[in-house]
Amino acid sequence: MDHEIIKQVRDWLEQGVVDAFLAYRITDGHPLPHVFTRDSIEEVNDLGVEPFRYPLEKIAWQLVRLYPEATVGLPVAEGDQRTLKVLQAWNQIEERRIKVLQVAVPTPIPERETGKVKQALGIAFRADSEDLDRLEPWERFSRWMYEFQKCIKCYGCRNICPVCFCAECSLENADLVGTGNLPPEVPLFHLVRAVHMAGRCTDCGLCEEACPAEIPLRVLYRKVNEIVKDVFGYETGMSLSPSPLNFLGKEVTLEPNAGLWPQPKTPNPNVECRTRNSE
Ligand code: SF4
Ligand code: SF4
Repeated sequence: MDHEIIKQVRDWLEQGVVDAFLAYRITDGHPLPHVFTRDSIEEVNDLGVEPFRYPLEKIAWQLVRLYPEATVGLPVAEGDQRTLKVLQAWNQIEERRIKVLQVAVPTPIPERETGKVKQALGIAFRADSEDLDRLEPWERFSRWMYEFQKCIKCYGCRNICPVCFCAECSLENADLVGTGNLPPEVPLFHLVRAVHMAGRCTDCGLCEEACPAEIPLRVLYRKVNEIVKDVFGYETGMSLSPSPLNFLGKEVTLEPNAGLWPQPKTPNPNVECRTRNSE
């Protein structure tokens, strides 16, 4: 571990700059999130700032709610405070409650490989939204349906997401997402989550990493944020100004949009257009 970082954290705790510092500690051979405090200052010698595979910002958000007077220190990759900015922009965390320790850019989470079946029927992990925009709408729809139907509704994507903070989750609202079926309501489950990531997702990659069904979630959320940027000129996580979606009313319209899914004119025989009810 970088001795400079350990010294800095120790100083912050001893001098009362922060009440707690949230980072990693090796536990049974695994780096797990750990709250370091001045009461057990010797633990700081075991402090690590990687692997960045846990939503530390979300844990910090929970800590400052549990301890309303506390200031929490947090390692943040150099030049990237987008997730914190989103939490601040959505009034979830006060800037003064978090003391950021800039650390060198950590080892990125390795991207998953895209298998042959997924290449033929689904969406590559490294696809960008321009790649998908070039597809015919019916093929794009078919490919997303292929992906969504693998979902086992484990809620891992939601649970690990550092910017999922709603008190009541729409994904558990029986009026929006039916219960007792697998896959979950397709595509509604995923589109509800995607809409909620508009103006929030910072492309940290944790959801895609956590998804046991290998659904390429990042490209979906990148797309909704591109739309937010195009329509509102708002770049998620780049400022403390409120997201334009903060101001939306409470009314939700679930009326179908006629013509949203145009029928294929020239079906591609290599791509099967499957829906949940077609089997
Ligand atoms: S990539 Fe976006 S949606 Fe996924 S966990 Fe990170 S912030 Fe949440
Ligand atoms: S992590 Fe994957 S399988 Fe689990 S609910 Fe999210 S999309 Fe579905």
